[in-house]
Amino acid sequence: MSNQRRPLIAGNWKMNGLRADAAALADELATLRKSQPDAAFDMLVCPPFTVMETVGSVIENSGVFLGAQTSHTASNGAHTGDISPVMLKNAGCAHVIVGHSERRTDHAESDSAVLAQASAVIEQDMIAIICVGETEEQRESGKALDVVRTQIIGSVPSNATAANTVVAYEPVWAIGTGKVATPDDVQEIHADIRKTLASKLGQDIANGMRILYGGSMKPANAKELIALSDVDGGLIGGAALKAEDFWAIAQSCPSQ
Ligand code: PEP
Repeated sequence: MSNQRRPLIAGNWKMNGLRADAAALADELATLRKSQPDAAFDMLVCPPFTVMETVGSVIENSGVFLGAQTSHTASNGAHTGDISPVMLKNAGCAHVIVGHSERRTDHAESDSAVLAQASAVIEQDMIAIICVGETEEQRESGKALDVVRTQIIGSVPSNATAANTVVAYEPVWAIGTGKVATPDDVQEIHADIRKTLASKLGQDIANGMRILYGGSMKPANAKELIALSDVDGGLIGGAALKAEDFWAIAQSCPSQ
């Protein structure tokens, strides 16, 4: 954490949540967030498209932001099943996650596809949360830094700024597995991501850009991870589905 960057606590609900459950979870978070109007962190929830309107209306004016888990690059047209950044903005989204490892795997999204999505999100004045991270095999063969550098270079648009882009480092082997990267490994990769961002975008932009950690973040490990000098919050999956846990993670952010 650095005083220069406001932490972001982002929940990726993935393919979870029917209307009643989603509304109840959103309501608990909205109530908690309203109880702390001067919170020193941003809080974001990214529900499935089907409950976006429900969640959006519950969290309205609470300080909790609404985001999406992916988006198409085009604004509209013949793309069956897809949702555009224009539609997401119209639905009240402020942020869109792009290039999550599950999208990269399930939908064969390449770095250049992720870059195009991030550009389209930025074009709509929303914030792109660009995910990167190595697989277990890549880490074990000593390639983690190289893999992540390549993803940053290939996935982050050249017009990215600290205001329109967030990077999320999510080691694939830590997502949903209960395994967490060690603080030393997390700090090493985050510092290297910032260095790569500086070479691509300039030092000032890199210094201001938030880099989140994601991968089995929980109340029990969040404080140690968020305290690392180049970690600026978390992208949280499983623990984001319980208001108590998600809020406890947010409370791990320093109060400034
Ligand atoms: C994620 O999907 O972005 C994630 C980090 O999941 P989990 O917290 O469940 O590991």
